[in-house]
Amino acid sequence: MRTVRIAALMAAIALIGPPPAAAWGYVGHRLIMSRAIELLPAGLKTFFTANRGEIVARAIDPDLWRAAGWEDDPHHYLNFGVREFGEYPFTALPHEYGAAVEKFGMAALKRDGLLPWRLAEEFGNLRRAFEALKRSATAAPDVILFAPVMGHYIQDAHQPLHATNNYDGQLTGNSGVHARFERDLIERFQSRLVLKPARARALTNPREAGFDALLSSYRLVAAVLKADSEASGGRNTYDDAYYEKFFTRTKAVLEERLADAITVTAGLIIGAWEQAGRPAAGNSEFGIPNSEFVRSFQNSEFFSRDHLSASDRSGAVRVVLGTSRRGVVDCAPRRMDEAPAAPARRTLAQRRSRRPAQ
Ligand SMILES: [Zn+2]
Repeated sequence: MRTVRIAALMAAIALIGPPPAAAWGYVGHRLIMSRAIELLPAGLKTFFTANRGEIVARAIDPDLWRAAGWEDDPHHYLNFGVREFGEYPFTALPHEYGAAVEKFGMAALKRDGLLPWRLAEEFGNLRRAFEALKRSATAAPDVILFAPVMGHYIQDAHQPLHATNNYDGQLTGNSGVHARFERDLIERFQSRLVLKPARARALTNPREAGFDALLSSYRLVAAVLKADSEASGGRNTYDDAYYEKFFTRTKAVLEERLADAITVTAGLIIGAWEQAGRPAAGNSEFGIPNSEFVRSFQNSEFFSRDHLSASDRSGAVRVVLGTSRRGVVDCAPRRMDEAPAAPARRTLAQRRSRRPAQ
């Protein structure tokens, strides 16, 4: 039965076609996650190193959800540049989730992106996993899931083309630049990249870390597009010569964004851990219960795994690709964590009820 379901799912994915562009590509996300582990303090590093294989593999899980056709797309970007957000630094977009929803409506935010709030949600999931670790080691698999999932979204925020409405160069004659920049350059030139991430410090406001990264990214969009135009020289052939030129012109940007993504990924993991009271994480390697491999039909690429959270608390992201016993497909945000230090916010209904009658 299970095999049949996997086969059906694989067939469904095959019909969908190639996965959508994934920030940094699979190689990039794994590279960032792996390097971030090196920046963790001793109390965390031992645990993360013992579970490195699983944690690094899971850094691409949110892209796999998209590839499987789930509604996760808006969590991976923010379309700065759309008219309604105004000019840089786009202060027309409230950072507070409820205020943003109230101002623009959910449909518009889903179109223009939800990245900072999704990041905050997954940071909250990671913090709760660390808190649960104080009570029981059975929470360890949740840390192994949520650290790389949270990391994925802040890594996406560091990709300039995830911070603009011109995300594939489609508005400037640079169509296809998204994958050429984030995937092809790293896969071709990884060995020539020199990444020098700064030391990580605890970051405890994931939403603002997301906005900061996106704003920095946005400022680099023009440079990436210009490099693409210069490298292609108006031709539509993207051969070795093109990539060599494109890489030469964007190497510094790539190195800076990847290095910062490494530092900030580590910083947010440390921040969640500190907010949870620095629980001892131990040095055990944990198998993920009921974890299974599903092999991809494309490029021999690892496609996904099933994850069933050990504690299965409400609010956990339930990744049920193909092999779920629950049959639940749910990766939509249900709880948009704001930074814990922020004042308690009223619900949208409360806000509306307090609005003066007009
Ligand atoms: Zn992504």
